[in-house]
Amino acid sequence: MTTPTSPMARPCHPGDPVRWPEGCDRCYGRYEVVTVWQSRGICGYCYQAAKRITGICACGHEGVLPGIIDNRPACRTCSNIKLNVDCKSCGAEAELYSGGRCQRCVLADTIDRLLTNPDTGHMVPELVPVAEALKTMKRPNSGLTWIRQPHVDAFLADLAQHPVISHRLLDELPPSRTLDFVRGLLVEHGALPRRDERLARYERWALTAQARVVVPEHRDVIARFIRWGMLRRMRIMESVPNGTFLRSKQTVTVGIDFCNWLTTHGATLAELNQSHMDAWQAEGPTTRGFVSRFISWTAKAKITTEGITVIPHRRGTSPRLPAAEQREAIDRVVHHDDFSPRDRLAAILILVSVRTSRPSLP
Ligand SMILES: [Zn+2]
Ligand SMILES: [Zn+2]
Ligand SMILES: [Zn+2]
Repeated sequence: MTTPTSPMARPCHPGDPVRWPEGCDRCYGRYEVVTVWQSRGICGYCYQAAKRITGICACGHEGVLPGIIDNRPACRTCSNIKLNVDCKSCGAEAELYSGGRCQRCVLADTIDRLLTNPDTGHMVPELVPVAEALKTMKRPNSGLTWIRQPHVDAFLADLAQHPVISHRLLDELPPSRTLDFVRGLLVEHGALPRRDERLARYERWALTAQARVVVPEHRDVIARFIRWGMLRRMRIMESVPNGTFLRSKQTVTVGIDFCNWLTTHGATLAELNQSHMDAWQAEGPTTRGFVSRFISWTAKAKITTEGITVIPHRRGTSPRLPAAEQREAIDRVVHHDDFSPRDRLAAILILVSVRTSRPSLP
């Protein structure tokens, strides 16, 4: 049993007691009365709101309940109200949206129109279950709001013109939330195989990234590194975690930067020696240490000579006092008479921040 829903009428102005001294008998606002229902004057706001009240009347009828009997919403028959809420297309009793038709009918028509290829008059098989899912969504109102946005309309109309819809086709379209949503529907309804979107994103990213390598020989090494050093492991994961995705991007980015740095210093990976590595690390930020993974891979693949030392970059390696030592140190500072109050406070703050600047294990 559904309880009647009754959206509140929301007048945008406070009413006019001079012009409409009688006012509305339902909301008691001083608004123009547009109709008389059950011998009571009804204002425009209450009239519009009444069309949206749905539920089950005391008589058992389910539908629009514009009347009020014993303080409960009541159907048209019971309250003897004449109101057109019958959809011309499906006959459903609902608030009419446009052309005398309900929201669901208008939504269905819009979807069919957008997802049908105008040249062939057919919908590609992949889009059939998507259309069905959109048409039967719980709140047609939300569907209409979504589909009426110009970018959604344009995206769907464009998609409908492709003879086959595949992940590859979607990958070539500009990324957008609409695309992600539609891809999700295609996968959910079995029109496209399920895949790890993060892995797919990484593969696309890597393809563009490797084009930044200046020397073809190095570009080939980076491509192999991506394939064997990165993707092989990622592909066997059930789903690639975001941390792995980000780290793998960083690893390849630093590898590419390193290759190009070598080129500008007149060397190839085959000629790499320790002094190159030392110079590369000395000249830049400590994140250059992320090259270690690339270098150990190239050494194993006999692309670079073995034994090149890389100072690895470690995340969050600032010194930290164990809790007991910190308490002891604070104790010493607090009870040290030679400290001025200002110095004492500064010392405590430093000790505390040494402790709290690092995340501690539970
Ligand atoms: Zn009213
Ligand atoms: Zn009734
Ligand atoms: Zn309808």
